Amino acid sequence: MKKRKEELEIQQAIHDLIAQDAPLKKTLGCICQMLETMAPGMLSTVMLFDAETSRLRLIAGNVPEGYQNAMQAIPVAPESGSCGRAAYFRRLVVTENIQYDACWQEYREHAARYGLRACWSYPVVSQEQRLLGTFAAYYSEPRSPSHKELQQLQRMVALTALAIERKQDRQSLRESEQRYRSLFTHHPDAVFSLDLNGIFTSANPAGARVTGYSESEIVGQHYARFVVADDLPRVDEAFSLACQGTPQHYEAEAIRASGDTNYLAITNLPIVIDEKVTGVYGIARDITQRKRNDTRLRLLQRSVEASTNGVIIVDALQPDMPVVYANRPFLAMSGYTMEEMLGNNCRILLGPETDPQAIALVRDRVDERRDVHVTMLNYRKDGTRFWNELYISPVPDDAGQVTHFIGIHHDVTERINYEAQLAYSGTHDPLTGVANRTLLEQRLEHDYHLTQRHLGQLEVIFIDLDDFKSINDSLGHEAGDLLLKEAAQRLQRLLTPGDTLARFGGDEFVILLPSMALEGQGSRLTRLARRALAEPYLLGDHRVTLSASIGLASAQAELSKPKDLIQNADLAMYQAKRQGGDGISFYSPDMKERVQERVELRRDLANAIQEGQLELHYQPLIRANGTISGFEALVRWNHPTRGNIPPPRFIELAEQTGQISALGEWVLHRACRDILTINALQNTQYRVAVNISPLQFHREDFFARLDRLIETTGLPAHWLEVELTEGVLMENPEETITTLQLLRDRGVTAAIDDFGTGYSSLSYLRDLPIGKVKLDRSFIQDILDCPRNAAIVQGVIDIAHSLELQTVAEGVETMEQHQDLLKRGCDLFQGFLFARPMPLNALRGYLGSKACMSQT
Ligand code: C2E
Ligand code: CA
Ligand code: CA
Repeated sequence: MKKRKEELEIQQAIHDLIAQDAPLKKTLGCICQMLETMAPGMLSTVMLFDAETSRLRLIAGNVPEGYQNAMQAIPVAPESGSCGRAAYFRRLVVTENIQYDACWQEYREHAARYGLRACWSYPVVSQEQRLLGTFAAYYSEPRSPSHKELQQLQRMVALTALAIERKQDRQSLRESEQRYRSLFTHHPDAVFSLDLNGIFTSANPAGARVTGYSESEIVGQHYARFVVADDLPRVDEAFSLACQGTPQHYEAEAIRASGDTNYLAITNLPIVIDEKVTGVYGIARDITQRKRNDTRLRLLQRSVEASTNGVIIVDALQPDMPVVYANRPFLAMSGYTMEEMLGNNCRILLGPETDPQAIALVRDRVDERRDVHVTMLNYRKDGTRFWNELYISPVPDDAGQVTHFIGIHHDVTERINYEAQLAYSGTHDPLTGVANRTLLEQRLEHDYHLTQRHLGQLEVIFIDLDDFKSINDSLGHEAGDLLLKEAAQRLQRLLTPGDTLARFGGDEFVILLPSMALEGQGSRLTRLARRALAEPYLLGDHRVTLSASIGLASAQAELSKPKDLIQNADLAMYQAKRQGGDGISFYSPDMKERVQERVELRRDLANAIQEGQLELHYQPLIRANGTISGFEALVRWNHPTRGNIPPPRFIELAEQTGQISALGEWVLHRACRDILTINALQNTQYRVAVNISPLQFHREDFFARLDRLIETTGLPAHWLEVELTEGVLMENPEETITTLQLLRDRGVTAAIDDFGTGYSSLSYLRDLPIGKVKLDRSFIQDILDCPRNAAIVQGVIDIAHSLELQTVAEGVETMEQHQDLLKRGCDLFQGFLFARPMPLNALRGYLGSKACMSQT
């Protein structure tokens, strides 16, 4: 009876332990102890099954510690001792004598060491037949259980199962609760629960963040407090539906603690316990940023749609980058519909004449995920072309990865056309339509390098129309323009593709003839050009013919710049022009040297006057009786490096540059002052003859200047004589006669220089108010050998005398010439035989010695 009571107490204690959730080891130990109380001499153990390792572990029992330690990982298997076997077969295993039982093989020694001989083991399983462990009883001597003992054991097994199962249930409950709790606590969205009245019963930290209220401030409040008035009806409806068991998802604007609002995406889930809704869970995500982005995006989309530029967006992440968006202006520009664009690659805009370089540029930049700006020829759906000014930019996401490209398209066809027109007018001569100088230079550069590279040759033809000015002057500019147009057309007809005809200046044309052959066409073409230009021109009612001077140059090895080619051809043309025009001349390097020299002289001449490099030499004119009648002033240039330069080398140059005016002015002044000096010194009345260049003579103010000179120097006018060449007199006879008349009125005499070299007829002399005729040196030179020249000289002398003009023989070098001329009645003599031109100082000496001689 006492034992029974003790048993009940222990059982009560075990139930208490289970109820209090005491450590399992303690509860199970108590069960073992209970069995041992009931059946003295019996030892018991409990093994727990570990599902993960599929092994049994001894957790409680009064067996020796060493044995306990050995029994920590017993496999669930038929040969694994009584417990392993019981667990394996899920039935009672009775081992009467451990020493002779085969399934104890492994553990026999352990058992022997601790004096364990018999073992009866029960599997412990849950209500659902899940293996929980084993419960075993040991004896120190071999024996088998009685019926009563088995009943006792079974009660212990049931208790053990209860204890373990409860423990495990509690454990898993706790775990799921913790899992739920951490889901709740760490959820990035606001999570809260409400009762069926809409009062918050819990809120997580994110809920606090989203609302701005602390958790404790939220709990106990009605949700209406947190929702803006406009959205409340919707929220109410969703809440009541959730209360009826239907989950809800909606967006609402919430009022934060700070007073501002945010947008929340809210999910409401019914809390169902025992099939009854007891409340509502809420999960709210702050979508304010997304909402704002959406608004901004919508705004952007509107503006993109409203833009007048075409916009398309392509997906950079998909293969072949399909178009994912195209705005209306783009569709209008390209002629495609939205459906046709979407999913397509932009290359449908390209066509046969799109510049491959522009395409490559775009492709490269897109590959590099960079911006690009190009203008390229694109094709509409109907095949028509348009110029597209294109900006493409990559669109990176937050992580920097380029997800899209946006392309802004602008139809600039009109502008390009306008520019092309401008470019055309920038490169073409508006009158004739042929290339202008700018284009000529570009082509020249291009052709030059091309022919150099391919061992071809480049020839340049320079054409200058002869006497074009007179056509302009006589028939008017319109006729002149017509002629130029016609001339350009004739030249153009001679050319083959690749040749360039350009108008270089007023009546100058240049032809570029690049050729890949060894033999150029230049020489042939100059002849053709000359013939073509010589054909008569019909200008209105007028039929005009004209000639041209043509120069040809071809690229030489020494050529440094392509531009030199034009200059060379120009030189050659100039040569042809100098030879009287209507001719062809080929460039040769010595032309260049001459020109080089001229260029330098031309430059230096500008300084010559200022720097006193000019000097006058005087050559006496001798009368038949041997006395001096006067001197001719001849200019000399003491060039600082080239020395004394005779006038033929620079007078013509000065005439071309216009420097002759200043030079002539200087000579006149110097000569006047010098003759004043000489006459004063010698007390004589010598006359000085000054050579006047045509340009100088024809200047409007020539006369005024001369008057002023005479006035300021106080020179008696008859001490001055001007020498004019035939050419001067021929150019404008009437004007010349008037001027000469005015000169004569003042007492200034005039002489015709170099008579016989020009075309003036002898009868012409009659009308001219002049005093002297100077026979050109060339007649005097061979007067003794050439009867024809002698006859001319005689004729001139006779006629001159009949017109009461004096004759001067220039360049008398020998006594024989002098004698001959004397015989023929020549009045004055000039030449090396008497004196060479000499500087003023030398002249003084000369005159001094003459005076001495005449005295003696
Ligand atoms: P020109 O007016 O016929 O001058 C005569 C030229 O014959 C001078 O040459 C003179 O030195 C040269 N001469 C004189 N006697 C003889 C001779 O016996 N034998 C040879 N072989 N030559 C002789 P220069 O000084 O060289 O002048 C050449 C030309 O330059 C002049 O020819 C004249 O047309 C021009 N010239 C000279 N000085 C001036 C000037 O101040 N103004 C202008 N406009 N022209 C000038
Ligand atoms: Ca002269
Ligand atoms: Ca002369």
